[in-house]
Amino acid sequence: MNLKDTKPGLIDCCQICYSKAIYEVLDLGYSGLCDSLLTNFQLNLSEKNYPLKLMRCRKCHLLQLNYVVDNEEVFHKEYPYKSGITKPLKELLHSTSKYCVKNFNFTKKPLAIDIGSNDGTLLEGFKKHNFKVLGVEPTNIAKIANKKGIKTIQKFFEKDAINLIKQNYKKADVITGTNIFAHINKLDTFMKGVKSLINPKSGIFLTESHYAGNIIDQMQFDSIYHEHLRFFLLKPLILLLKNYGFKIVDAAKIPNYAGSIRIAATLNKKAKIKKSVKKILDEENRKNFYKTSKYINFSKNVNKVRKNLSQLLWSLKLKNKRIVGVGCPGRSITLLSYCNITNQIIDYIAEQSTSLKLNMFTPTTHIKIIDEKNMIRKQPDYALILSWHYGKSVMKNLRKKGYKGKFIIPLPSPKIMN
Ligand SMILES: [Zn+2]
Repeated sequence: MNLKDTKPGLIDCCQICYSKAIYEVLDLGYSGLCDSLLTNFQLNLSEKNYPLKLMRCRKCHLLQLNYVVDNEEVFHKEYPYKSGITKPLKELLHSTSKYCVKNFNFTKKPLAIDIGSNDGTLLEGFKKHNFKVLGVEPTNIAKIANKKGIKTIQKFFEKDAINLIKQNYKKADVITGTNIFAHINKLDTFMKGVKSLINPKSGIFLTESHYAGNIIDQMQFDSIYHEHLRFFLLKPLILLLKNYGFKIVDAAKIPNYAGSIRIAATLNKKAKIKKSVKKILDEENRKNFYKTSKYINFSKNVNKVRKNLSQLLWSLKLKNKRIVGVGCPGRSITLLSYCNITNQIIDYIAEQSTSLKLNMFTPTTHIKIIDEKNMIRKQPDYALILSWHYGKSVMKNLRKKGYKGKFIIPLPSPKIMN
């Protein structure tokens, strides 16, 4: 069964199995797009907010959003994210190429294509292993990659880009889509494109997506935002790929973005499936991820965290403490808007001097993003760590730079760290 591309707007059925048996797990209210930050001028204009609900399919266990915002709007040309920006992320992205080279056999002069290739960081890893590389990236970040010598087509991975690659390149040995597979609304176009470009015998299609198991078990509800249309357990991933003739031959849980699942799939029907696949499926079953009760508890706990975090911040604020945010990853937008943490509570958000987000404002909550040097100079009493998934290294860095105040870690349950 091939899927249809999902159209922008409300979704009334499962994106993988088309079942109408989807129900609401969590209502996160309304939120602006996390990478459409506002300018000073835009603060005074009306703002677009979109409904943000987490839905679950009773039949295939897919978790998905209830509303799709048009990709062109989400991944607009000025999209500010650069994957090479932090050292840990760079290392993780390079581990993807190492994994491929170690585990699979490829043709001579292999070709690796990365879809949603951002600034080309992942492909740099393949280049080191003597792969010919090609990126596909719709935003202006493609220009940064091209400047670095990573050949990148600045287009969405749709008809034009796919035809261009077909005409100019041989069949790919590896096609990667890391942290993009959950984003695209034209899933059918995407899968058919991959299928047409990959070597049918030895080609490996590799995706990495935020793992739904981590979101549920570690209270990472802040990673639910409009860019992420789907949250995968292994079971629905198998079904989705099977629809296009792909077989998942290996699966692993990896640390990227606070817990992702990496799968390697092939069109080769004779390929052997590694034990890792059954192991993860067994674990999902054992941990009750296929049961409704799991999600009822999750929803209750998320509500509790919202209440506790809000109480903690307001109690400090009422004591005239100065609180700032640290780091402004996409996920911070959901945390801030859902917990109603606005510029009434947070004076500003500090980001590295190299960040493309400086001097912009968060959507919905209107908090200004400033250079972290100012934060070190001003020495606020509390720093709320919004990229809490890198909490330890963020705190260590800030201490090194001279911050003397306290830290607040918001999730999985709010706590103050000295
Ligand atoms: Zn389903």
